[in-house]
Amino acid sequence: MTKKSLGFTELEWICPNCKNRNPGTRKNCASCGVAQPDDIDFIQPAHEAFIEDDEKIAAAKAGPDIHCGYCGTRNPASAAVCIQCGGDLSEGQARIKGNVLGAHRHEPAPPVSCPSCGSENLANAIICANCGSALPHVQPEAEQTKKKYIPAPKRSRWPLILFAGAILLCVALFLLTSRTTETVGEVSDYKWSRRIAIMALIPVEKETWESSLADDAAVGQCRQKIHHTQETPAEGAREVCGTPYTVDTGTGLGEVVQDCKYEVYRSWCEYTDEELRVVNTLVSEGRDQNPSWPALTLENGQQEGEREETYTILFTSDNETYRMSVSRPQDLQKYPPGSRWQLDVNTFGGVRDAEPLP
Ligand SMILES: [Zn+2]
Ligand SMILES: [Zn+2]
Ligand SMILES: [Zn+2]
Repeated sequence: MTKKSLGFTELEWICPNCKNRNPGTRKNCASCGVAQPDDIDFIQPAHEAFIEDDEKIAAAKAGPDIHCGYCGTRNPASAAVCIQCGGDLSEGQARIKGNVLGAHRHEPAPPVSCPSCGSENLANAIICANCGSALPHVQPEAEQTKKKYIPAPKRSRWPLILFAGAILLCVALFLLTSRTTETVGEVSDYKWSRRIAIMALIPVEKETWESSLADDAAVGQCRQKIHHTQETPAEGAREVCGTPYTVDTGTGLGEVVQDCKYEVYRSWCEYTDEELRVVNTLVSEGRDQNPSWPALTLENGQQEGEREETYTILFTSDNETYRMSVSRPQDLQKYPPGSRWQLDVNTFGGVRDAEPLP
């Protein structure tokens, strides 16, 4: 994350003695003269206008003010001895710097009425322009409503219910398939199929970064796309920044900053590639004990792919048909047509085991 400085703004502090509001850079109260103690924090004014005063900005950049270790007076970072008592400031306590005070208040705030004479003053004004009375510190309305209680979302119980349901279903399926009944069956039919996949190189539309294209690639259209987001600026990158906020510099000025990221764009291109894919499947099927492979004829550019074979023996018992799969073609020969078998049959009509009967 890159921190971007947008400018500086004058903060305020409230006198603990007389409650008077003072501009941040004032080191003692404009009303009663008390020096700002080190435990009185700076606060944001209702409207934060950027300041142009180079001297104040330079002081803010120089570092946080130092409270004299002897008399407590606030001194600028550049001072070596206390402006009040002449004490050595290396014994002093620097103000805390870097605290985030809140979102930058860039919108002009509504006017403030003077509690004494009722005349309207600018939100930033510290004393009434009409009668000179101290004006109260006001929080912008938007920030007061922001602190509403938001209830935490309730956790859904659905994932748990679905998970339990899936387990129950698996158990039920296992019980159904593993439960068998015994019956006597007669071999009544066979079913076999043999398949050969035919493969060929065919053009396929793909997309990739321009930098990863092969030199001889058939490139189509390209467009700019976010390649990655990084913390530091880069040429041609798009800057994406968060909401500006005000940071206490410890000098009475706030620095308005923004956290930014950088989206780096690169060229993303369509191109045509060739991939070996299944273009056809040759099938041979039958209902006898002599399976055969389909005749393999390959056209130009084609090649043989995977072969698949399935063999099933069908038994009949009391008008019910039961199926048994075998893995090898020669197994079909072990079950002659009309032969009788003791069968172990599961709930779905599958034969789990077959013993020959005399
Ligand atoms: Zn005061
Ligand atoms: Zn001092
Ligand atoms: Zn007034």
